[in-house]
Amino acid sequence: MKIIDKLKQVKTSVSFEFFPPKTKELEESLFNTIEELKHINPTFVSVTYGAGGSTREKTRDVVKKIHEETNLTVMAHLACVGHSKYEIKSILDDYQRIGIENILALRGDIPISFEKENLPSDGCKNAAELVSFIRENYRDYYCIAVASYPEGHPESPNLERDIYYFKKKVEMGADFSITQMFFDNNFFYEFIEKCQKVGINIPIIPGIMPITNFNQIRKFASLCGATIPEDVIKIFEKYADNPEETKKVGIEFATKQCEDLLKNGVKGLHFYTLNKSDATIRIYQNIKNLIA
Ligand SMILES: Cc1cc2nc3c(=O)[nH]c(=O)nc-3n(C[C@H](O)[C@H](O)[C@H](O)COP(=O)(O)OP(=O)(O)OC[C@H]3O[C@@H](n4cnc5c(N)ncnc54)[C@H](O)[C@@H]3O)c2cc1C
Repeated sequence: MKIIDKLKQVKTSVSFEFFPPKTKELEESLFNTIEELKHINPTFVSVTYGAGGSTREKTRDVVKKIHEETNLTVMAHLACVGHSKYEIKSILDDYQRIGIENILALRGDIPISFEKENLPSDGCKNAAELVSFIRENYRDYYCIAVASYPEGHPESPNLERDIYYFKKKVEMGADFSITQMFFDNNFFYEFIEKCQKVGINIPIIPGIMPITNFNQIRKFASLCGATIPEDVIKIFEKYADNPEETKKVGIEFATKQCEDLLKNGVKGLHFYTLNKSDATIRIYQNIKNLIA
């Protein structure tokens, strides 16, 4: 089923993101996670894609397995960087053949191993071109999601410019969006206001990253330009040598973040699970009264 149709049916959507595991053991562990998370009855789950095609088969295999072996609605991420249109089409043809109807259309980051001059000349230069390519070739077969950035994308000169390009993705036919992680909800609220002002009216689902390993999340956040407020850094630094306490505080922090978002009327929460279920389940237990 198309996610955009499910979003119209549910009061508050809850969804989970996974990445394709590298080994058989890790795949088993991912499917245990999925088994545990499926009791929450998520609106959808999604599987990331390694830019440059590094996880092309793995992403496809995990997406196919979720689609065939569970009753979950699954969305495949697809990053166009490094792919020719021919390659993009063969990936999408394959998804269509196996019955996948939801795609998160991304540009992706050019992997360091790629020489810029070796990028295919007939590819899609940005996510808006990818969305347009999908609509041209598949009309309304796919529900298309795109990424958005409450603090602006790191390559963008400013947030307004980035919102201008976000709007292009919507004009090309994106159905909804999931945001980059953020740790101060004011970034999200101001972003939504700015998007509304320029006429972006698709659902924008906040991406939630529970902090369970502070150094790891700090690194991710700095790579994607997400600010961790000073007071939050201070809290987590206090527990730098205590993984158990970090996790506890991380769950409390994400719970408060989600409660505030829900009280301010968000229609969905997308959890970056890092393929683990425990933190997400505990956060969900804490907020489920606000969702039901
Ligand atoms: C929810 C979510 C999921 C993600 N999943 C993945 C994943 O599975 N795999 C992965 O590799 N990465 C993933 N990413 C990261 C993403 O690929 C990177 O942030 C990437 O750098 C940008 O991708 P995009 O689709 O947002 O690009 P775009 O929307 O194309 O934007 C990229 C940059 O180019 C600018 N821009 C856009 N169009 C133009 C134009 N015409 N002229 C000039 N500048 C322009 C934008 O302002 C922005 O700065 C994800 C991000 C999010 C938020």
